[in-house]
Amino acid sequence: MGDDSSDSGLGAVQDAVAAAARDAGRPVDSVALMAVSKTHGPDRIAPVLEAGHRLFGENRVQEAAGKWPPLRDAWPDIRLHLIGPLQTNKVRDALALFDAIQTVDRPKLAERLARDMDALGRHPDCFIQVNTGKEPQKAGIAPEDADAFIADCRTRLTLPVVGLMCIPPVDESPAPHFALLAKIAARHGLTELSMGMSADFREAIRFGATIVRVGTAIFGIRPPPNDR
Ligand SMILES: *Cc1c(COP(=O)(O)O)cnc(C)c1O
Repeated sequence: MGDDSSDSGLGAVQDAVAAAARDAGRPVDSVALMAVSKTHGPDRIAPVLEAGHRLFGENRVQEAAGKWPPLRDAWPDIRLHLIGPLQTNKVRDALALFDAIQTVDRPKLAERLARDMDALGRHPDCFIQVNTGKEPQKAGIAPEDADAFIADCRTRLTLPVVGLMCIPPVDESPAPHFALLAKIAARHGLTELSMGMSADFREAIRFGATIVRVGTAIFGIRPPPNDR
């Protein structure tokens, strides 16, 4: 960061992701950097697109629906993931807009996704969100329920589950949470691990993250209008 020109913190974060992958003995291209653009308008997002970046994350369906369609027209190869909680009444909008839903976290949502995917003929990749810290206020399936839920999503509902996602508690070391997520994924043969944010993506890469979700380190501090 600190550069007011085109690509904000993007270049520095790309370099840090590559360095962390090399340090972990992993191929640099085994870790995808997602730019988390929530709260930022097209004026902030366009320079990151112009710099060649294509993978973005948003946490609210309505906000994303308002700002991404015109950007998609201009850059058709954008890939957009939903990384925030999904209400069942927003499932159709989400399926129309996103290339992946990273927050599949409860049976009712999984059932609705399965039904509406078939109805719309849209099958975005699904990630199961695991509440590794068992925080009551946080979304995600409890770790002890994860095995059964993952199996049900894949076998009965035939959702296209590609991996797992977690958001560790802010006040704990993230390492045990990353390790737990990797362990659950491994026993299901799931290859995608979405974990690590601005503060801890290096550590997440050490524990096998295949997608790191970075907002602040790319775009700067978000405006604080509400509970993000
Ligand atoms: C906002 C957000 C991020 C990015 O957080 P930063 O600390 O700004 O990098 C990552 N994941 C989720 C689920 C988010 O909501």
